[in-house]
Amino acid sequence: MKIKPKKQPFTANRVMTKTDEVYRFYFHCALCERGHTTGMIVAKGEDEARIIAENEARYFFNRCLRCGRWVCDEHYSIDESMCVECANNMKKKEEFSHGK
Ligand SMILES: [Zn+2]
Ligand SMILES: [Zn+2]
Repeated sequence: MKIKPKKQPFTANRVMTKTDEVYRFYFHCALCERGHTTGMIVAKGEDEARIIAENEARYFFNRCLRCGRWVCDEHYSIDESMCVECANNMKKKEEFSHGK
């Protein structure tokens, strides 16, 4: 039996450009400017275009389980399933509670 992972809404920062009926989206990491530009998307409206773009771009990003932001591979700690910012915060807290 296949278990479908629950789809999280893709909420990375995005910039839309539109020429006539052709849309293009640029999504970027919450912590840097690195991102993904989609191909040209022909859609009937902005909503439709956005859904297509999100389905394409979400695979280039990782969602932090703690803060819910979408970040690039470089800002994602796979071991902890968190962005590096949250991972560092956790480490700091741990050091603090185990401190002398
Ligand atoms: Zn990044
Ligand atoms: Zn985070």
